[in-house]
Amino acid sequence: MSYDVPFIRPLFPSGDAIAADLDRIVASNWFTNFGPIEREFAQAVADFVGEGHQAVTFSNATLGLLAAVQAVAGRGDGSRSVIVPSFTFAAGPQAIVWAGHRPLFIDIEPSSLQPSLEEASAAIDANPGRIAAILLCNTFGIGNPRIAEWEELSARSGIPLIIDSAAGFGSRYTPERRVGDAGVCEVFSFHATKPFAIGEGGAVVTRDHELAERLKSFSNFGFEPGSGATQLGLNGKLQEFNAALGLRQLADFDAAVRSRQEVLSELQSRLPTGLFRAPDNIGASSVCFGSFLLPTEALRDRALARLAAGGVEARSYYSPAVHTQPYFAEGESAGPLDVTADVGRRIVSLPIHQEMRRADIDRVVESLQTLETDR
Ligand SMILES: *Cc1c(COP(=O)(O)O)cnc(C)c1O
Repeated sequence: MSYDVPFIRPLFPSGDAIAADLDRIVASNWFTNFGPIEREFAQAVADFVGEGHQAVTFSNATLGLLAAVQAVAGRGDGSRSVIVPSFTFAAGPQAIVWAGHRPLFIDIEPSSLQPSLEEASAAIDANPGRIAAILLCNTFGIGNPRIAEWEELSARSGIPLIIDSAAGFGSRYTPERRVGDAGVCEVFSFHATKPFAIGEGGAVVTRDHELAERLKSFSNFGFEPGSGATQLGLNGKLQEFNAALGLRQLADFDAAVRSRQEVLSELQSRLPTGLFRAPDNIGASSVCFGSFLLPTEALRDRALARLAAGGVEARSYYSPAVHTQPYFAEGESAGPLDVTADVGRRIVSLPIHQEMRRADIDRVVESLQTLETDR
């Protein structure tokens, strides 16, 4: 089915700009393998997050997550677990299994929709010696408002904190601290569906120089210059073409984020008051999409039906939660995951585009205007 207002409308550089980049790549005869454009892009990503960071690029975020989990938690034999929310995208739990560990699912907090700090802390106490790492997810790319407490938990317990910030490039934890700065490392996706879109691509950002070296080697068959493979690795390298798109996108990314935030504010001010509640800190995010909790499942379902009837493509992320998906259904949970289940029934994800057309914003708002009265 095609919609008048698509869920995602990525803004890519013009055909002329892309053609110029391709000419440059063809002239240099260097298409991948840490070429000059990838080197420049990796540095620019690190600089964007802030001083003292390094970025290792990947051909997508899922390989970045796999690299990060196995580098930080070690390669497991299935006997240890990585704490992860079930309310996330399946790539994180998949990466945990690929690295030889088991996901231990935790619930989320009702107001922020971020992973439950208290449940993670209790799971660590209840499973001494069995927790290899925490894979926090910055829900919808929104910077976790309690990130400092998560870092304290990690320091206190000695369990490393990895953060899946796939949709969160350009988001902030606080006005002074960008997403990308926390934990041992943070993983970004630059997939076409994210606010920072280069087609397929991703990066792991860290302050740990030695970790960055290992991650880069992992993405290149585990090779070290001069000695061949010195560790388990694979091919996760980012191509020059995608890096070139990345440099173009970075040039006006601040304006892109502001544009998305303005669309969000407008939706927040025009949607029926008291009915649509957004998660904490969404306004300081790069706003991958507009997430709102409705008071009941019936209202949420009616909202989805009204949007579809109005030609607006909407979703309900992250539903179904990972622990209910067939491959993970036998997985272990730290508790009953009640908030995850409840939120999954009441969440709606609205389209937010960079420089969203006025008519498209109006269409979203008009579809939902009479939600409560129109049965
Ligand atoms: C998009 C996303 C991923 C996967 O990113 P890819 O670059 O497509 O591999 C992983 N985790 C979360 C939370 C995501 O939103």
